[in-house]
Amino acid sequence: MVLLPAEESYHISRVLRLQPGTEIELMDGHGGVYTAVIVEAGRKVIARMICLKEEGSDGLVQFWVGQGLLKGKKMDGIVQQCTELGVNRLIPFFSSRCQGSLRELRERQKAERWDRIVISACKQCKRRDLMVIEEMVEFSTMLSQFENAPGLLRLLFWEEEKDFRLRPEMVGEGKFDKILILLGPEGGFSRDEVSLAREGGWQTVSLGRRILRAETATLAAVSLVQYLAGNM
Ligand code: SAM
Repeated sequence: MVLLPAEESYHISRVLRLQPGTEIELMDGHGGVYTAVIVEAGRKVIARMICLKEEGSDGLVQFWVGQGLLKGKKMDGIVQQCTELGVNRLIPFFSSRCQGSLRELRERQKAERWDRIVISACKQCKRRDLMVIEEMVEFSTMLSQFENAPGLLRLLFWEEEKDFRLRPEMVGEGKFDKILILLGPEGGFSRDEVSLAREGGWQTVSLGRRILRAETATLAAVSLVQYLAGNM
């Protein structure tokens, strides 16, 4: 038997008004989807597990996105879209052109409950595993964290990169088992930040000659990489 969390219980009892005996699907957040039946419906909902319906994550390659923190509610859209597009891990970072201090932004991250957006996006798009959102990290700390990670393709999307573009053979299946892409905040990356990344072995990549808004760039980059990685 499983006792559902308060929010899920409320949704089942008060919003959907499901009754005992109704069959439902439960996700464990790590790729497992189970068939279950409601035994008790009220302030708390209890369900009896019937069987494992499917398991495993959707992606062929682990896909991580580092996102320079955006102002206001734009991060909600990034969290929603990255979840829908199958990103496995979102790493919000603080760089020189982000607004606010790292402490303030960490407080904001806690308050904004991005994990609830992940859960609702997973339910809506029937994604089996939850996207993990890391605690906000300072840009240079993040670079060093992944400096020598084996089998990891590291790409930094930069509007001033004129030559290097994503190509199928770069990301094609089997070359890497993990991909990490970085996208800047509204103000972009400073030249020093780009040089630091390049010295650490990151490849700068162009999305073409037009300068995209931050949220447009993330959506475009995530979609392209997921497609080339065979995850879409
Ligand atoms: N420095 C930009 C400007 O002059 O307006 C602002 C940065 S842009 C709004 C935010 C982020 O989107 C950039 O840091 C970069 O990661 C990404 N981006 C936007 N356009 C891009 C392009 N054409 N190629 C690669 N990345 C791009």
